[in-house]
Amino acid sequence: MLFGYTITMNNNEQLMEKIISLSKNRGFIFQAGELYGGMAGIYDYGPLGSLLKNNIKNLWIKKFVENRRDMYLLDSAIVMGEKPLTASGHVGGFSDPMIECLNCGTKHRTDNLINELEMNSVLDLALKPINDAVHATKDINGTFLNVFQKEKAESLIFEKKVSDSNEEFLLANKYLGQYPSIYLKSIEKKCEKCNKVAWADEAHEFNLMLKTQLGSSSDSSSTAYLRPETAQGIFVNYKNIMDSMHPKLPFGVAQIGKAYRNEITPRNFIFRLRELEQMEIEYFIHPENWKAEFEYWKDEMLEWSEMIGLDMNKLHEVEIGENDRAHYSQRTVDFEFDYPFGQKELFGLAYRGDYDLIKHAEASKTKLQYTDPVANETFVPHIIEPSMGLDRTILAILASAYTEDEIDGNTRLYLALNPLVAPYKIAVSPLVKNKEYIVNEANRVFGQLKAEFGNVSWDDNGNVGKRYRRQDEIGTPFCVVVDYDTLEEGHADFGTGSIRHRDTAEQERVAITELNNYFTEKLS
Ligand SMILES: [Zn+2]
Repeated sequence: MLFGYTITMNNNEQLMEKIISLSKNRGFIFQAGELYGGMAGIYDYGPLGSLLKNNIKNLWIKKFVENRRDMYLLDSAIVMGEKPLTASGHVGGFSDPMIECLNCGTKHRTDNLINELEMNSVLDLALKPINDAVHATKDINGTFLNVFQKEKAESLIFEKKVSDSNEEFLLANKYLGQYPSIYLKSIEKKCEKCNKVAWADEAHEFNLMLKTQLGSSSDSSSTAYLRPETAQGIFVNYKNIMDSMHPKLPFGVAQIGKAYRNEITPRNFIFRLRELEQMEIEYFIHPENWKAEFEYWKDEMLEWSEMIGLDMNKLHEVEIGENDRAHYSQRTVDFEFDYPFGQKELFGLAYRGDYDLIKHAEASKTKLQYTDPVANETFVPHIIEPSMGLDRTILAILASAYTEDEIDGNTRLYLALNPLVAPYKIAVSPLVKNKEYIVNEANRVFGQLKAEFGNVSWDDNGNVGKRYRRQDEIGTPFCVVVDYDTLEEGHADFGTGSIRHRDTAEQERVAITELNNYFTEKLS
């Protein structure tokens, strides 16, 4: 940080646009399928974005797997069958309610039409029939839960002392379907597209999973999905891991991988995506220890946030109240971040109890248990789940790092990335391109540093000033320039290179023979 002069961006919208434009122009993130008009909610990571992403993944595996003795890495398949996802509740309940405009045929997500305050009015309208409905006895083949604010509606039902049996939820939901429509008509909410008030009588569920068909047959046994979260791959492998690795409690299974959600309205760049990547841990514990384990994982997540260079002033720990938690969770903490578009979820930490293993045990008719070898006690382990979205992490890192200051009267933009995640750690340049001995020495220095630090960039485009600006914008912490002084008296062993620091724009000279030691210290 250049002290005394840092422009703070007042206009957050502008900041978001700047991040998106930098991401594209500097090879971090591209709209997928851009050549053919682009696909909403899907992005490609370019050369520098891929390096940034890999650095984060490698750090995550190092911190949460390699540096521990109680963690197992997993790489489960992206394609999942219908049975496990039915057991997990995703086939029935992982959905958004949509309401159609009968005039123009556009389908809208109801939670985009009705804000949170208005939801209370809708829920008020709905409460009475819910109570009637849950006491009804007829059987309905519906979905699990049909409300935009699922947990909120659930808690409302709970407060009315209604039991949580699945059937009652089905009934309750069925009856909630019409209330968004009644409400929208009552306030004469217009369709954004055709400006008419012509809402269908009921909202319909739109399942967010991407469905596919395996093989040539088209019966339900061949139905498969792209997984909506990596966690289910861990739960369904619990027994395999127990039988093959024989872990003792507590232990965890960690996984990084893609997940898919057919979001109706993907938005905010890489925040709400249809193809996303997650870094998730399922940590299996004895139920007695859940409080201490939860605290421990909360600290671990904070440590991780700091380690990757998030602006800790923008990170907020939000304790999720009883009414807003999933009903099986006794405690959930969201880590929210001040993105340019507002404070939204970045990471989640949930105590899931034995919910997941019990659901899969019931559906698969297989015991998913643990027997303590000392106490000889058999039980279903409980689970603490630290869950981290990788794309959101990248967005938060970019938002934390984006900085503008002023040098010599000109605005300068740089990414103040933590060297641990920066795509390139060092850029090496020859001062001039037309002096062979300088280019040769710069090449030698480049080879020497690249062998040691891997992500080192060679940059001989334009003049040195332009190279600095480019390296600043991609967050390279250090530039090394081999110049005339380096080869003073023709003796490279005594020569020095000019090292230029990204954040301060200051330069110093370090002996070429000392560079590896210098950077080992700076980059660790
Ligand atoms: Zn319309």
